[in-house]
This record gives sequence, C-alpha cells and structure tokens, in this order.
Amino acid sequence: MAECAQPEVSPSECLSCGACCREAYHAVEIGPRDAFIRLHPGWTQVDPHFAGAGRRRIVKRVATLTGTRCACLGDSSAGPVDPLDYRCVVYADRPKTCREFEQGSVNCADARRRVGLAHLPVEPPPQLS
Ligand code: SF4
Ligand code: SF4
Repeated sequence: MAECAQPEVSPSECLSCGACCREAYHAVEIGPRDAFIRLHPGWTQVDPHFAGAGRRRIVKRVATLTGTRCACLGDSSAGPVDPLDYRCVVYADRPKTCREFEQGSVNCADARRRVGLAHLPVEPPPQLS
C-alpha cells in the first residue's frame, strides 16, 4: 500500500502520506505463495483478526497511539523510527497486496480519508476550444 509509499510513482504524495501503510487499515494480507514470506519471514505475523485456522499471514504490525502501522514503514536501522518517515524499507520486495494498491484509486482515497487527508487532486479534463 504505501511508499506505498511508492517513490517511483509520486515521492511527494506517497512519502508525505503513508496512509495505506499505517493506521488506515489494520492489516496488509500476504498470499500464501507470495515471495515476501520467503524473503522476509521476520516481517510477517499471523493475522490476529482472522478467525480461520490461524494460518493467514500479514505484514508485521507495530502499535501506535492511534492504532497500528506496518512495521516495514520507516527506517529503524539507526534508532527509533520517525513516525513521519513513510518510506517502505522492503519496497523492492513488498507483497503483491502493496504492489497492486494504486495511488489515486478509490482505495487510496479511502485510506487517506481514514487518516484525515483529502483525496489526491484530480487532473482537470482537457478544455475544449
Ligand atoms: S494512500 Fe495513496 S497517496 Fe497515500 S501512500 Fe497510499 S497510495 Fe500513496
Ligand atoms: S510492506 Fe511496505 S508498501 Fe507494504 S504496507 Fe508495509 S510499508 Fe507499505
């Protein structure tokens, strides 16, 4: 989802937003065959909200004052994560769920609304002359 903060797409918007990686949602699901599970087992956890057999995995979450956020959001290599650091530290390997989350989509607007941000500005249609 955030980075989805998606730096290649729009550093200015995603890196100042991060909504889809933080409190907008309570989980980022990882498919059972997603390479992310093999590449980053330590960044995954069982989904505590899934009432199934307890096998569904999500990207690891960390608690915040207002909910939880993805543990991959923000660089903790040099100390505590800055809560406004919206870079994804596993961006190149992020799960399919994150890759498919489109900036400017309905889901993006929903995520931004949930954290109190306005929808991204829409390009005006071309003017007819
Ligand atoms: S909610 Fe949208 S703008 Fe915000 S980080 Fe995610 S994709 Fe980017
Ligand atoms: S893995 Fe990266 S892109 Fe996906 S939710 Fe976490 S921080 Fe966002």
